[in-house]
Amino acid sequence: MTKQETFVILGAGQAGGWVAITLRNEGFEGRIVLLGDEPHPPYERPPLSKDVLKGDATLESTYITTVEALAELNVECWFGELATAIDREARVVTCASGRTLNYDTLFITLGGAARKLPHLPASERVFYLRGLEDATRIGAAMKRAKQVLVIGGGWIGLEVAAAARSFGKPVVVAEAGPALCGRSLPPDVSTWLADLHRSQGVDLRLQQSAKFEPHEGGVLASFPDGSQVDADLVVVGIGLVPNVELAQASGLQVEDGIVTDAQGRTSDPRIFAAGDVANHHNRHSARRLRLESWANAQNQAIVAAKAALGHDDEYHEIPWFWSDQYDTNLQILGMPPAGVTPVVRVYNDSKRAYFYLVDGKLQSVIAINAGRDIKVCKKWMLAGVAPVAADLVDGTRDLQKLPAV
Ligand code: NAP
Repeated sequence: MTKQETFVILGAGQAGGWVAITLRNEGFEGRIVLLGDEPHPPYERPPLSKDVLKGDATLESTYITTVEALAELNVECWFGELATAIDREARVVTCASGRTLNYDTLFITLGGAARKLPHLPASERVFYLRGLEDATRIGAAMKRAKQVLVIGGGWIGLEVAAAARSFGKPVVVAEAGPALCGRSLPPDVSTWLADLHRSQGVDLRLQQSAKFEPHEGGVLASFPDGSQVDADLVVVGIGLVPNVELAQASGLQVEDGIVTDAQGRTSDPRIFAAGDVANHHNRHSARRLRLESWANAQNQAIVAAKAALGHDDEYHEIPWFWSDQYDTNLQILGMPPAGVTPVVRVYNDSKRAYFYLVDGKLQSVIAINAGRDIKVCKKWMLAGVAPVAADLVDGTRDLQKLPAV
């Protein structure tokens, strides 16, 4: 690695920010360019659908670093720039502005975009939540709203619904599938979550796809059962589409995200990818995964930056994810296996944990207001421990003191 080398980071989100910081922390002395289309320094997204939406957090509180701190690290910030092409042979990135950048090593940390609902016409009452500006605009509209309609019962939809209920707004959540967060939650937990939202006054409609008619004051949604909702605020959260177009056009291997090895290296050894856009082999899940989570964006980026500097670290973390809705903190460790009946530990009405055992070993746990259990389970999962199901069920016994095989 020489001082003359240029490392370019495409995407100045959480993953991109961590690549830049890690490169300098690890002693890289060459040129670093951090390029992103937003005007902000890298920021974390979890607060956007919670405290930023509710007006309880400033934009700046979400930043993982500042422009000044990046300048001190001698990181060139090309913010407000959109990369439009990667020429892998010439090792050049082209931007929409016409500027070009030569690179020796390239990191693609471009994240993803909110999936658009095709049959819902754009209107000033319809929002998608992906960036900081979206969160502040939705937050302002929410305070004025008389009826909120959320399309999609996934993580965005449920956190937005909880925020709207905290302002006392009537909320309808329409989910096309039969269950909330159907792709990431097993049926028991999904049902528990549905009960939570209903108990908080959300009008939850599962397996409901509406037809929409925008009008001056909002959008009229007509449901198959004949009911209608006239909403002056519609928030759509129907998933994320990874930003793989540049990678694909440049000929990199892309299969539900940019395919990487355990160090974040793509099919081109000079190009790394990390975060929502990358698809890696996950040892704990024994399959390839593209993870859309805060922990993955940060930790995969750190490994990729180190790998580019010649370290031999690999990314083998157990997927971990959390959500806060009302007074409920929900955490998922590992990927809950399909078709496995969980062992359930009930502490009280609002605190419980679901353990998913495969061949006796703990493969995943979902903790509801029981974050401490996650720490114990992580140790067990890393050590391949097989806990005794009967002990797990008993909420009066301290999990940390349970005998495990
Ligand atoms: P998501 O969690 O994938 O959920 C989208 C939901 O919308 C799914 O249940 C999906 O059902 C449903 N859906 C799809 N098409 C629909 C339609 N036409 N009408 C109604 N429902 C429809 O995605 P998201 O909530 O949009 O979140 C976007 C990203 O932000 C994700 O990466 C998410 O993990 C992340 N996020 C994370 C957090 C957190 O960490 N706490 C909070 C907010 C957002 P199917 O599965 O059946 O398609």
